[in-house]
Amino acid sequence: MTIQFTYNVNPSRIVFGQGTSTQVADQITSLGCKRALVLSTAFQADDAKKLAADLGNLSAGNFTEATMHTPVHVTEQAMQVYTSSGADCVVALGGGSTIGLGKAIAYRNDAPQIVVATTYAGSEVTPILGQTENDLKTTVRGANILPEVVIYDPDLTIGLPVSMSVTSGLNAMAHAVEAVYAENRNPVTSLMAVEGVRALHEALPKIVENPTNTDARSQALYGAWLCGTVLGTVGMALHHKLCHTLGGTYNLPHAETHAIMLPHTSAYNAPAAAEEMQPLIDLFGGSIGGGLWDFAKSLNAPLALRDLGVDETDMDRAADIAVTNPYWNPRPVEREAIRGLLQRALDGSRPE
Ligand code: NAD
Repeated sequence: MTIQFTYNVNPSRIVFGQGTSTQVADQITSLGCKRALVLSTAFQADDAKKLAADLGNLSAGNFTEATMHTPVHVTEQAMQVYTSSGADCVVALGGGSTIGLGKAIAYRNDAPQIVVATTYAGSEVTPILGQTENDLKTTVRGANILPEVVIYDPDLTIGLPVSMSVTSGLNAMAHAVEAVYAENRNPVTSLMAVEGVRALHEALPKIVENPTNTDARSQALYGAWLCGTVLGTVGMALHHKLCHTLGGTYNLPHAETHAIMLPHTSAYNAPAAAEEMQPLIDLFGGSIGGGLWDFAKSLNAPLALRDLGVDETDMDRAADIAVTNPYWNPRPVEREAIRGLLQRALDGSRPE
C-alpha cells in the first residue's frame, strides 16, 4: 500500500481536563493580552458574567447576545462593544453560536481568541466561520478565524441538557464519519476520526443514563475535540452539504438536523467507501446507517425531519439544490437517490 498525503495541521493550544476553566486568566496573559471581552448567548449570560467578574482587571466586560448562525448585525454590535470597552482579546464561553461570534470579531480585527467550549459541535478547533446576512449564509476560512486557545472543562458540560448533549454528540460524530472518507484524509486524521466516534459512542448512552457522570462527560468532550479537529482539517462531503442546504434554506436547528441526517447520509456513502468506513461499520454492528439510526433511537434523538417542520415539497427543493451544486463525494450525487434518502430522513424511517 502506498501512503501519500499533504497534511496541514491547525496550530492551537488545547487545555483539557476537569477544573481547567479556572485557567482563563493565565491563558489571557500567556497570549500577551490584558483585557478580554467575554462573550456568550443570552442563555449562558450568568455564567459569562461570573467568568468576567472572576477575571477582575483582565475583563473588559461582557457581550451576551451571541446568536445561532452568526448574524452580521449582531457581530457589528459586538464590534462596537469590543472597541468602546478597550478589549484586546475575546473569551467565548459556550457552543458554536458564541464561538462563531468570537471568530467573526477575530476575522474583522485579528483579536486573539480563547474559547471555553461547552457543547460538542467542534467549531472551536476549525478555521471556518459561517455568518448570515439577509437570510444568506456564507462561509469563510482563514488563519485568524482559528481560536488560539481552547479550554475543554467537562465540568462546564454537566449542565448541557441531555437532549442537546445527544444531538450535539451526533453532530460531532458526523464530522468524523465524513472525515474517514474525505478526499484529502490522511492516516492521522482517520485515526482521530475513528477514536472520536468511539469515545462518543461509549459516552453518550452513559450521559443519557446519568447527565452528571463526569467520566462520561470527559469522554464525550474528548471525542468532540477529535471530531472537531478533523472537521477543521479535511474536507466534508454529502452530509455537511445537505445539512447546510437544509439549515440555510429552511432555518432548521443545527445539531438536530445533523443528528437526523447522519444515518441516511452514511448509509448512502457506505457502499462507495466501505474500506475507509470499516472501523465505524464494525463499531455500529455491521451496518453504519442502520446502526447509527438504532443508536440515535436508543438515545431518544429526533429521527424525522418532519418533526422540525419541513414537508415533501421542501425535500424536492433540497434534492434539486443538492444536485445543482456539485462537490466531491465518494458516491456520485444522483437526484433520485438523494430524494429517496431525504424521504427516509423526512419520515424518520430506518435506512436500509
Ligand atoms: P449553540 O452554541 O447554539 O448552543 C445552543 C444553546 O445551548 C445556546 O443557548 C447555548 O447558550 C446553550 N448551551 C451551550 N452549552 C451549554 C451548556 N454546557 N450548558 C447549558 N447550556 C448550554 O449550539 P451548537 O450546536 O454548539 O452550535 C451551533 C452553531 O455553531 C451553528 O450556528 C453552527 O453553524 C455553528 N458551527 C460552526 C462550526 C464551524 O466550524 N464553523 C462547527 C460546528 C457548528
